[in-house]
Amino acid sequence: MELLSVIVPCFNEEENIFPFYEELMKNDAFFKDRGLDVEIIYINDGSKDKTVDMIKKLHERDARVKLVSFSRNFGKESAIYAGFKKSKGDYVVMMDADLQDPPSLLPELFGYIDKGYDSVATRRVNRKGEPPIRSFFARQFYKLINKMSKTEIVDGARDYRLMTRQVTDAILSLCEYNRFSKGIYGWVGYETKWVEFENVERTRGETKWSFWGLFKYSLEGIVAFTTAPLSLASFMGVLFCFLAFVLIIFIIVRTCIFGDPTDGWPSLVCIISLISGVQLLCLGIMGQYLSKTYLEVKKRPLYFIKEEIE
Ligand code: UDP
Ligand code: MG
Repeated sequence: MELLSVIVPCFNEEENIFPFYEELMKNDAFFKDRGLDVEIIYINDGSKDKTVDMIKKLHERDARVKLVSFSRNFGKESAIYAGFKKSKGDYVVMMDADLQDPPSLLPELFGYIDKGYDSVATRRVNRKGEPPIRSFFARQFYKLINKMSKTEIVDGARDYRLMTRQVTDAILSLCEYNRFSKGIYGWVGYETKWVEFENVERTRGETKWSFWGLFKYSLEGIVAFTTAPLSLASFMGVLFCFLAFVLIIFIIVRTCIFGDPTDGWPSLVCIISLISGVQLLCLGIMGQYLSKTYLEVKKRPLYFIKEEIE
């Protein structure tokens, strides 16, 4: 028998623990046919509600259910990492607890693994039910990051992925602190098949992502996967030096021909504020990278485990 590890990060998902389990177990016949044992690893990411109690209840019913409980909320990326680390399966799949990653797709995903792919990723083809403004910014973000980064980051990609042990170990070996999974998956390579599905809306509980949270996450992605903004800073530096040089020559020539009129301070103020703005922007870009580097060199653990049930 081969083992499949299902990893489910949970943050305040008490209503979703049981429905998720039931939905997943609808694949029971498939698991038997395919000769798969299953372990379901719920990662409790510092929930404040009854998530842990629910998982424990479920564990009493089915010993294949395992729990890793964090000491506080460390974020979904840390939860995914902890799940990978805990998993023992020959295959590993990551799914959201809110059923937005339909477990009914699993047989299809396995079909591609059996065809020889190392990893089967999913992407939603639309963003039905999402606020239009959020969709708009999300699309712009993907356009921007794909222009800047060599690693392909697919628009609409979910974290829902089925992969072999080999790919999981590759991902585990990247132990960076600022984790941006969507980029990491692409960066490690391997043969990946993309499966598309219609967006499923969350039925219970609510999303943990605020607009501001997503904005910060997108900056993390950019800083983690491209240094293009740093080159932009140098490029602007060169450009403005050149402009200043041209301006100096122009003024010298003009003074020689027309004398030195004393007016012109408004233009001077404009130029000074423009250039200091650019300088601050560049300093900010440097700061972003510096702060991430600072966090990386501290080498803090990604999470602490408070409780674990095998
Ligand atoms: N999640 C988590 N820690 C967090 C935020 C979210 O483990 O700090 C989990 C959450 O419980 C869910 C999954 O990550 O299982 C996706 O979260 P959500 O549905 O809020 O994101 P969305 O689908 O809106 O992108
Ligand atoms: Mg969701």
